Amino acid sequence: MKRVLSQLLVFVTIVFFITAGVTLFIEYKNKESLGEKNNIEIKIENSKILVPEETSIVKTNYIFSKNYFVIRTILSILIPIFILKSSLLEYAEELFNKKIKNNFSQGLIMGIAYSIINFVILFPIAFFSSFYRLKLVGLLNYGFFDWLLDLLKGEMLNLVIFSLFLGISFYIIKNIKRWILSLGVLYVLIMIFGVFIYPVVIDPLINDIKPVSDKALETKIINLAEENGIKNLKVYEIKKSDETSALNAYMTGIFSTKRIVIWDTTLQSLNEDEILSVVAHEIGHYKLNHIPKGMVLEAVLSIITYGSSIILLLMINRKSRRALKGPYGLGYVLLYSTIISMVTSPISLYYSRKIEIEADKFAIEATNDNLTNGILELRFMETNLSPYNVDEWYKILRFDHPTAKERIDLSNSYDYDK
Ligand SMILES: [Zn+2]
Repeated sequence: MKRVLSQLLVFVTIVFFITAGVTLFIEYKNKESLGEKNNIEIKIENSKILVPEETSIVKTNYIFSKNYFVIRTILSILIPIFILKSSLLEYAEELFNKKIKNNFSQGLIMGIAYSIINFVILFPIAFFSSFYRLKLVGLLNYGFFDWLLDLLKGEMLNLVIFSLFLGISFYIIKNIKRWILSLGVLYVLIMIFGVFIYPVVIDPLINDIKPVSDKALETKIINLAEENGIKNLKVYEIKKSDETSALNAYMTGIFSTKRIVIWDTTLQSLNEDEILSVVAHEIGHYKLNHIPKGMVLEAVLSIITYGSSIILLLMINRKSRRALKGPYGLGYVLLYSTIISMVTSPISLYYSRKIEIEADKFAIEATNDNLTNGILELRFMETNLSPYNVDEWYKILRFDHPTAKERIDLSNSYDYDK
């Protein structure tokens, strides 16, 4: 066990120095731009939004994002390799053979161990990308300890969900004959929980969510929803301003739990037309059934990813069946699925960008206002520091929304008759 810990320490130290080096280098190279104000001017000529001037702080933030993405991607492959090469799996096998024989507990322990290792190795990059960098560019409104507390809360939740999932999966694989079918049922239940139950039951417990206070706005939103055939919509605001200045909103729930939740930052910094355009976009997702369609796609991609990982495991790894169903098998499935998801994830991102364009079109039609949809992008450039245009490779591998350029182009050239 001591050996595993010292291997882990060496790994984290290397990750820390690389991430720190990259961060400080970018900071040094872009020193002047970091203090600048990020005012994006909105200019409209002949009913078209003019291409905005990208401020240097937006450019610098984009450089940070690309670099952190590359480091994260490399680490996502190195972590399973580390787990396979360290003496961790031997240690786990021994422990399970001698002391802990209960399959559920075995899965649980592996889930906890994996979550902790993953968290420790990724901690330097979490610190530099979502604390240090955000402080530099002025997107974070609170101090280090509040940030850390929030990070740990999120990690704890992930750890509990993931280890329970692994515990139950392990029990199923070892004790139930039709384990593939049973795992599928478990997976569907988790998805339903994540999409329909979590936002309605758990989210209000951990966030400050209350009915929107601007009643005139609420009426307009409800009217807009009813014009589009959505009845009984509830409108909430969620407090985010003490953490961030970024803007967002989402729609969730089914039947009587249908709700639109708008970040208070959005309510504070956007005007009414802009808020209605955001809401119309969210209604678009709902009306066009993007949530269930996305769930089906995710399920298919997961079957492909984990199915082929298991096939690879059986083909490549010549260990006994017992070993493959134990910690070793899990380590290899982790490695293979990480590699395969580098191919499947661009597919799901492509689909996500496609439905975002559909929701934009829906919003333009519903509000009868094509320009506000594009102006919103300028707002996001100002508050979320979104870049105007990005490299094609980065868009394919990372972007779940169209770029600001694509959305502004859509708004500028929107043809209502089509
Ligand atoms: Zn959207």
